[in-house]
Amino acid sequence: MMFDPQGPGRDTFDIRCADAVELVTEYLDGALNASDLAAFEAHLAHCEGCTIFVDQIRMTIHLTCSTSGTGPEIMPPDLDELLSRLRQRATGTGPTV
Ligand SMILES: [Zn+2]
Repeated sequence: MMFDPQGPGRDTFDIRCADAVELVTEYLDGALNASDLAAFEAHLAHCEGCTIFVDQIRMTIHLTCSTSGTGPEIMPPDLDELLSRLRQRATGTGPTV
C-alpha cells in the first residue's frame, strides 16, 4: 500500500478515497473483513464525498434489484463507469474532463 504524502494520515488505519471506492461494493455486500470495515467506516466518518457516493451506489443497487428481480451481486451497467470515474478523480490519474 502506497502512502500519499498529502493524505490526512490521522489514523493508523486511515485510507484514501481511492481505497474506499475499492471497498464500496464489498461493503454493501457485507463482504468486508473486520479491519477493512473499520477502515472504511472511519473514512466515511470524515469524508462527505464517499458517504454520498456510498448512498448513491446503495440506491442504484436497490433500484436495480427492485426492478429486475436479480440478486445484489448483479451490478448495474453504469456502476463500473461510476466507480472508475470516481477512482480516477480520487487518484488524479484519469483524464480531466
Ligand atoms: Zn473519501
